[in-house]
Order: sequence, then structure tokens, then C-alpha cells
Amino acid sequence: MTYDMLLLRFGEITLKGKNRNRFEKSVLNHVRSVIRPFPKAKILKEYGRMYVELNGESPEALINTLRKVFGIVSISPVRVSPSELDAIVETALDFIGKSELSDGTTFKVSTRRVWKKFPHSSHEMNHLIGSPLLRAYPQLKVQVKQPEIELKVEIREDRTYLFHKAVPAVGGYPLGTNGKAMLLLSGGIDSPVAAWSAMRRGLEIECVHFYSYPYTSQLAKDKVIELTKILSNYAGRIKLHLVPFTDVQTSFTGLGQDKLMITLMRRAMLRITTMIAERDGAMAIVTGDSLGQVASQTLSSMNVIGRATDLPILRPLVTTDKNDIVNLAKEIGTYETSILPYEDCCTLFVPKSPTTNPNLKIVESIEHSLTDLSEKIRIAVENTETVILKNGIQMTKNDNEHQDEVVKEEWF
Ligand code: ATP
Ligand code: MG
Repeated sequence: MTYDMLLLRFGEITLKGKNRNRFEKSVLNHVRSVIRPFPKAKILKEYGRMYVELNGESPEALINTLRKVFGIVSISPVRVSPSELDAIVETALDFIGKSELSDGTTFKVSTRRVWKKFPHSSHEMNHLIGSPLLRAYPQLKVQVKQPEIELKVEIREDRTYLFHKAVPAVGGYPLGTNGKAMLLLSGGIDSPVAAWSAMRRGLEIECVHFYSYPYTSQLAKDKVIELTKILSNYAGRIKLHLVPFTDVQTSFTGLGQDKLMITLMRRAMLRITTMIAERDGAMAIVTGDSLGQVASQTLSSMNVIGRATDLPILRPLVTTDKNDIVNLAKEIGTYETSILPYEDCCTLFVPKSPTTNPNLKIVESIEHSLTDLSEKIRIAVENTETVILKNGIQMTKNDNEHQDEVVKEEWF
């Protein structure tokens, strides 16, 4: 089936009165960025919606790409006709003829006459298009309420659009329209899903990963870079901060407080992330925590851990079941990478029975007793390297400098 263009519909964003222009501009930039591999495709922007002219590009491939753009709720492949009665009827016949019709397929025509000078009213047009369709395809049966095929015909001055299918898209808010947050990215299943969920809510995210060389391998680091690459297919461009955590982490060993190890580590992670957030202008921290999943994710642990930062901690998966998280991970394409077996810095130092109910006073007094902890934290931030991933590709240093300007101007 050959289509001429795709109609992209916005969802919740259209409700947002004054913000609407800003939101639509953000979707426009996102769309512009993801369709770059389709050089013939051309964007047409209109108030409240957007079209992508195919000009010979594959509709399936483009739909698959555009479905992932946050803020788009559905996509319809569209046929275009000149705004003349005969041409419209002919296009409708050809269009419906190429759909799968079985005996008794119900249908109706819904015309919208945007160009008021078109000689026939919408009501007339429904008949003028519907009758020849019924004659040509006797399998069809008219049904006004919830027909299987609703052929929509939009008559505009320059041309007329015909469409009847709507492919659901990811929805949410356009990327970056709700501010920026730091995301704690482990190599596990949960945090990449938390990242995607946060982005879908309009957050721009920068990822922060803690590694403990030589206890964790280069492969573990590569895995996190790979996960960020996958996320960059949604974000367009994403930063990953790699924090050397060995010195901070080992300062908690040998204290006789193994049960509090995870609590201490997580608090140190939050302190480091807060410093990076302040430097980079992020206003929250996102984690992959899910209530009760492990010892560090009990309410009591979250409470003691969370007090290490003044920034709000967002936990998009806090009430999501593991099964649902796994399914989402599969859907967004991070699952296969997440289950690669390389060890995380936390799993390495995990005691056999970590506490599920840490005591804030004890934790704080341990931290106070470690006089060089703040200095170690400062050094970890100083030695953090940052890589940038853009549309699934890791940028080199030179690319980064160059791309930074282009991308900033283009995205916001
Ligand atoms: P995940 O699948 O995201 O690793 P999990 O269920 O394995 O989650 P934990 O390992 O306890 O749970 O981690 C809880 C959260 O802490 C993670 O979702 C992530 O946000 C953060 N986190 C854990 N380890 C790291 C790390 N090495 N670097 C950055 N963040 C981490
Ligand atoms: Mg984990």
C-alpha cells in the first residue's frame, strides 16, 4: 500500500494552553532529529498536528521510528488527493480497495470541510464518497456507530487528506518540557525503564553510573554505555557520567558495619549525584527503586537513604510490579542488554543480610567518623568522565564540542 504522508497527533500536550507552542516545538525538534535517516521525508507543521511527507520513504519504517517520539499519541498513514470531487472519490476507491475487506466489513465516511468554499457540504460528501464505495465493494456495510473502517476525509484548499487507520504511539510529554533530572543508571533491568518512564513524562535526563574498577570490569561499563545508547534512541542526545566509586566504596569496608554497607553506598551515590546535578542544573534525581524489591528499597531504607540529598528523588517504578517492568524493558529494547551477567559495584559488596531497617543516627555517625569521606566524594566528582550518546551513536570528544552547539540550538 502506498501512502503519501503520515499524520502525527499530539495528546495531553494540546491541553496545556499557554505551553502548547513550546511543547509542539519540542516535538517538532524531536521528530526532525529522528527522521534524519529518511532524507526524503519532509515535515509539515500545522497548529495542533504535524505531517510527515513520505516522498518515497517506507511508511512502516517511519511509523516505527515516530511511534517512539514522546508527545505523539497516534499516527495515521494518509493518502492525498487534489481537492476536486472526482479525484477524491477515485482516491477513496483505490485506498479502501487496498484494505483488507471481508464480507460485512462495516464502514462510514466522515468528511471535514476545512476549506469552506469547496462546493459540497461535509454531509453531501459523506454520501458522494460512500455510495461509489458501496457499489465498488459489495462486502461493505454502512454502520454509523463504531464501524470497523471510518474513512476520514479532510478537505483543504490545496489538497484533501484521506485516512482510516491510527497506529498508537507512545504519548506522554515532549522531551525536556518538564525540566532536567539526574538518573542513577545501574546495569540492571529497572533503572533503564525508570529512565524511559521519566523521559516520557517530559524530563530531560543525564545518566550517572558508579563503577568500582578493578572490582567491576570494563564489560560492566560497556554494558551501561550500551544501555545509554539505547536510551539515546528515545532522547536524541543523552549524557552519561561515569563516576569512579572504588575509593568511596572501600572506605565503608572493614568498619564492622556490613549490614549498613548498601545504605552507606547509596547515600554516597546520592551526595555525588547531587553535586553533579548542581553543576549541570538538574532539579531532581531519578532512580529505578521499586518498593520492597530488595533490602535497600524498603520504605525505611528509602527514608534513610533519601535524606542524603535535598533534591527530590523521583522513583517512577516505585509501585510497578517486576513483571510489568520486565515487559516494559523488552518493549523499549533494554532488556537483552540488562540481563548480561556483568556485576554491578553494589552486588559485589553486598553483605549476606543487609538491613531492611537502617537507623539514620547510626548511619550519620559512621559517616561523621570517616573524616576523609567528603574529600573522597569531591575527588570522585572531579574524576567523573562524561560521554555523550546521540541517536544510538557514541560521540567522540571532538564531535562533542562541535555537536554541543548545533544540538542546543536545535533542541530547545
Ligand atoms: P536496577 O535493575 O535498576 O539495577 P535493582 O532492582 O537491581 O535495580 P538495586 O541494585 O538495589 O536495584 O538499585 C536500586 C537503584 O539504585 C537502581 O535502580 C539505580 O537507580 C541505582 N543504582 C544501583 N546501582 C547503581 C550504580 N552502580 N550506578 C548508578 N546507580 C545505581
Ligand atoms: Mg541493580
